[in-house]
Amino acid sequence: MRFLILGAGPAGLSFACSLMSKGIDDFLIIEKESEAGGLCRSTEVDDSPFDIGGGHFLDVRRPAVDEFLFKYMPEEEWDRYERDSKIVVGKNIINSPIEANIWQMDIEDQIEYLKAIAVAGCNLKTPMPQKFTDWIFWKLGDKIAEDYMIPYNQKMFESNLDNLGTYWLDKLPDVSFEDTLRSCLEHKAYAKQPGHAEFFYPKKYGYGEVWLRMAESIKDKIIYNTKVESLDAQNKIVNGEYSADCIISTIPWTSISEIIGAEDHILDDIKKLRYSSIVTEYHEENLDTKAQWIYYPDPKLDYHRILVRHNFCPDSRGYWTETNLVRYKEDKTKKAFVNEYAYPLNTIDKPVAIRNVLEFMEKRNIIGLGRWGEWQHYNSDVVVELGMKLADRLLEKK
Ligand SMILES: Cc1cc2nc3c(=O)[nH]c(=O)nc-3n(C[C@H](O)[C@H](O)[C@H](O)COP(=O)(O)OP(=O)(O)OC[C@H]3O[C@@H](n4cnc5c(N)ncnc54)[C@H](O)[C@@H]3O)c2cc1C
Repeated sequence: MRFLILGAGPAGLSFACSLMSKGIDDFLIIEKESEAGGLCRSTEVDDSPFDIGGGHFLDVRRPAVDEFLFKYMPEEEWDRYERDSKIVVGKNIINSPIEANIWQMDIEDQIEYLKAIAVAGCNLKTPMPQKFTDWIFWKLGDKIAEDYMIPYNQKMFESNLDNLGTYWLDKLPDVSFEDTLRSCLEHKAYAKQPGHAEFFYPKKYGYGEVWLRMAESIKDKIIYNTKVESLDAQNKIVNGEYSADCIISTIPWTSISEIIGAEDHILDDIKKLRYSSIVTEYHEENLDTKAQWIYYPDPKLDYHRILVRHNFCPDSRGYWTETNLVRYKEDKTKKAFVNEYAYPLNTIDKPVAIRNVLEFMEKRNIIGLGRWGEWQHYNSDVVVELGMKLADRLLEKK
C-alpha cells in the first residue's frame, strides 16, 4: 500500500483523514488499543465524561484546525470557554501564569517576590547559566523558582531537573521588575495570556469524541488491538506482515521492541529518548471554585494538577487529579487510568538524538509525526496541523 500509519491518535488520524479528503484511500492504520484517540481518549466515570489522558481542551488559535475538526464534530456541539486556571502557591490562590499575577498575593508575599525579581540574573544581566535549575533561578528569581517552577516541574517531569535542557524554555520572556511592580500597584495582570486563553470543549462528550468520529469515517482502514512490535527500516515492513511505500510513525520509537536495519548509533539515540507517565484519578466531590483547572506545586501533595470537571462538563460533578506515576499512591477505592507515555522529556541530549533518528528514518521513507514521532510537547491542535501539512507535502511530492 502507499501509506502505513502507526498509531490512531490525533496525529495519525489527521494525516489519514487528510489523505481521504483528497481522495487517497490507499492506506492503513495500526493501533494497539481497541479504540482511537490516543492520549486524547475519553471514557465515562460517574455518568459524565472523563479524559483518560488528563485535561484536554482545544485551543482556538488555529482556525484551519478548528474548521477541519468541525467537519467531524460540528461547532454547535462544542462550548467555547475563557480560561480560568489557578495556582495554589503557599497560602495564595492566584491566576496563572504566576509571573503575571503576583498582584493577587498578599502584600508581604508581593514584596518578597518583587525583591527576588529585582535581583534575578536576567535583570542584572549576569551570564545565562546552562543547567536547568540554575537557569530557572536566573530567569525568574528565587521566589518563583523555589515556590513554583522547580517543585512543579519536579512533580510533573522528574525529580532531577538538571537532566533537562533549557532550549525548550527559551520562549519564556524575562520577568520584568518594572512590569511586575506596575501590575502590583495597578492591581491587574500584565504580560500576555498563556496558551488556551480560549478553548473549546464538547458540550455532551469528553474530548475523545471528535477522534472517535474521525476514526469512524475511515473505519475500514484501521486495525485495532495490534501493537507494533517490529519495524524493518530497510524494507519498510512492520510486524513482519505489513509493508508500504511510506510509513508514518506517530508511536513512541521506544515502544517498538525490535528495529531491524538501523545502525547501532541510531538504536542508541532511540534509547536516549525519555518520557514521563501520568495517572489520572477521579474524585466525586464538587469544589468551590470557578477554575477549570488548578496547579499544585506543593511537594507534599502527590498530584500536580486537578481538573474541575463541573466547570467545563455541563451537569457533571467532581474533579480529577493528574499525578506522575512515580509519585502515585494507588487508592483502590478510586477510578484511575495510567498513561505510560504522557510527556516526552526535553532532556539535554534529546534534540540531537531525535534529529538523528528522524533523518535516518526519513531517508528510508519512514516519517516521524506528532508528539511521539517527533518527541515534542505538541498539543493536539498542533499535531492536527502537522498531520494536514504532511499529507499536503507527501501528495505534492508524488
Ligand atoms: C496531561 C496532558 C494534558 C494535555 N492537555 C492538552 C490540552 O489541553 N489540549 C491539547 O490540545 N493537547 C493536550 N495534551 C497533548 C495531547 O495529548 C497530544 O498533543 C496528542 O495526544 C498527540 O497526539 P499523537 O497522535 O501525536 O499522540 P498520542 O495521542 O499519544 O497517540 C499515539 C497513538 O499511538 C498508539 N501506539 C502507541 N504505541 C504503539 C505501538 N507500539 N503500536 C501501535 N500503536 C501504538 C497509541 O495507543 C495512540 O493511539 C495533553 C497531554 C497530556 C499528557
